[in-house]
Amino acid sequence: MPEKQSHLNAQLETLKQANLYRSRRVIDSAQGIYLQLEGRKLLNFCSNDYLGLANHPDVIASFKQAANTYGVGSGSAHLVCGHSREHHALEEELADFCGRDRALLFSTGYMANLGVITALMGKKDVIYEDKLNHASLLDGGLLSGARFKRYLHNDIKNLQLKMQGLLTEQQGMIVTDGVFSMDGDFADLKSLVELAKDSHSYLMVDDAHGFGVLGKTGAGLVEQYQLNQQQVPLLVGTLGKAFGTSGAFVAGSELMIESLIQQARSYIYTTALPPAIAAATRTSLQRVQQDNWRREKLKSLVTRFQRGAKQMGLSLMPSESAIQPIVLGSSAKAMQASEYLLQQGFWVSAIRPPTVPQGSARLRLTFSALHQEQHIDQLLGALEGMSV
Ligand SMILES: *Cc1c(COP(=O)(O)O)cnc(C)c1O
Repeated sequence: MPEKQSHLNAQLETLKQANLYRSRRVIDSAQGIYLQLEGRKLLNFCSNDYLGLANHPDVIASFKQAANTYGVGSGSAHLVCGHSREHHALEEELADFCGRDRALLFSTGYMANLGVITALMGKKDVIYEDKLNHASLLDGGLLSGARFKRYLHNDIKNLQLKMQGLLTEQQGMIVTDGVFSMDGDFADLKSLVELAKDSHSYLMVDDAHGFGVLGKTGAGLVEQYQLNQQQVPLLVGTLGKAFGTSGAFVAGSELMIESLIQQARSYIYTTALPPAIAAATRTSLQRVQQDNWRREKLKSLVTRFQRGAKQMGLSLMPSESAIQPIVLGSSAKAMQASEYLLQQGFWVSAIRPPTVPQGSARLRLTFSALHQEQHIDQLLGALEGMSV
């Protein structure tokens, strides 16, 4: 065997030994409370479809209708001939929804984050990122070539310390998740807004897990904290989670969005989302805005779970969101727990390093507005029987 390949084999073997090997499971159903896996119907507690919109009949109907008009593929990038009326209308509606001048669609959240950071930051600049930021934010920071500093999770003192060296001729950028994706807690946005203002730095908030779920109308953590465009000039939301479709957007000022259109390489050099996805997302947005009950229901289910877990003596993390992790420590333990729950009919994913820090492997439970109280109780029963 060639040298290179035996090296790859050794790498895979090392991952297996360390319980870090990843593999896919093939499902035969739509996203929902139940997933069909290998002939079994499993109760699903690991999807990011928080509001239950991924398989909503109105969303599907809009998708089909637009596909009849526009076909499937968008044909090219937005800047060539792929920017349809549906894309444009969705951008305007998202901007309105977030109380921003404009919004710009990207094909994925990963690409939005890469595009925004690399477009605005370069070698002379300094980026500050929370240690627990999503991989796409970290990758964007590294790719930009700017000086890259990570601060302790949600530790404003630590960030202040790191920002002391920022020179007046340097552009700074503070980058954070809104709701942290693996812990479920919220960024201290009010303090970050102050720090950004004092240091004339950009503030970029990626609210992938708050968008649709938090705030009075679902506009996310920035709505909950009532932060406007001056305070949070770069707001990223993703559409594949609570919105149940696919893609992402960044919202901000006219100047920011025009700059991104000119400079963001992951915007310029890629095929636009299918127009039917944009059409489906416009219908999702209506459900997000009108169906307050989905957010209410989700909140009450989370509270029910927290109460039950507390009674059982399970230690949860300080999360008020639909993400409720149970930290178990080793990857082996997390895998074992996930396997046990699968046997019992529950799909709960084990999250291991490097997605989370060493020694903090966990079960990451997520809830949906479509869960019923009995589902929560069933899950609690299964967790009680878990021996790890
Ligand atoms: C999921 C996620 C992304 C990536 O979004 P995709 O549309 O799935 O590429 C970005 N940031 C955060 C915080 C996420 O959780």
